[in-house]
Amino acid sequence: MAAKLIDGKALAQQIRAEVSGRTQALKARGVQPALAIIMVGDDPASAVYTKHKVNDSTETGLAATLERYPATMAENELLARIRTLNEDPAVHGILVQLPLPKHMDAHKVIETISPAKDVDGFHVASAGALMVGQPGFWPCTPHGCMKMLESIGYDLRGKHAVVIGRSNIVGKPMAMMLLGKNATVTICHSATQDLKAMTLQADVIVAAVGKRNVLTADMVKPGAVVIDVGMNTNDEGKLCGDVDFAGVKEVAGWITPVPGGVGPMTRAMLLVNTLEAAERAAR
Ligand code: NAP
Repeated sequence: MAAKLIDGKALAQQIRAEVSGRTQALKARGVQPALAIIMVGDDPASAVYTKHKVNDSTETGLAATLERYPATMAENELLARIRTLNEDPAVHGILVQLPLPKHMDAHKVIETISPAKDVDGFHVASAGALMVGQPGFWPCTPHGCMKMLESIGYDLRGKHAVVIGRSNIVGKPMAMMLLGKNATVTICHSATQDLKAMTLQADVIVAAVGKRNVLTADMVKPGAVVIDVGMNTNDEGKLCGDVDFAGVKEVAGWITPVPGGVGPMTRAMLLVNTLEAAERAAR
């Protein structure tokens, strides 16, 4: 194997330990950092994700509550509940688990969360703050990817980063974060004509597509850093990323695995954002 592994699981563990320490310090000042999670409906994947979020929080000393509502809940009712949480000084972070039932306007719901408590970083104010380089909450997945690059001491200045995927929660904020570190950034998507021509120029490749083998060894410059955000299932029904790991690891300089890469980092960064929300409120 030529590439070195960026171990997201180990790094996430380290970050959780830091969160625990900072949480203790805040508690000593009488502030209990708290996250309110809202789930509407009974999507099984959302049930698993929200359970993880509660467990991750309590394990690091954060308080977390999960409010579950039936899929028939009226949108107005949900908005009213969010407004109440916005006003509650004991709640520092608010997270509404997506997807929401079809009768709800997810954009309107997210925009109702106070930007000061938007620990998912999905609010337009959070996206705007990232765009103009002001303090705000960064979405957890790209934020976790940046931490992984930081962990290997990678200097992005002047490097060419190619981001495959342009979703509002991963691809676009990822590109902004890389740009903020003075990388030259190319964003690719489904209409990109020659993806390979782009990726072959890249010093850093972030794959955030949701399709297996979007990135294969012949598309990677030797020594490049490859970050795999994708979550797919392989023929055996096991979790895999967007990157052909077996092939690409022979060419890349650094690579993140799936599982054990971006996934645990995403979970860890929610804890960081929640803690930061509490620290900011306590200032
Ligand atoms: P998304 O909203 O579906 O976006 C996928 C992006 O990929 C779109 O921009 C799309 O282009 C682009 N795309 C599709 N086919 C392509 C192709 N053949 N070549 C180049 N680009 C292509 O997905 P997302 O929410 O960003 O998530 C992406 C992946 O990351 C999914 O597998 C998701 O499960 C995973 N994910 C993982 C974590 C984690 O914690 N590990 C967190 C979030 C997401 P268009 O815009 O042109 O349609």
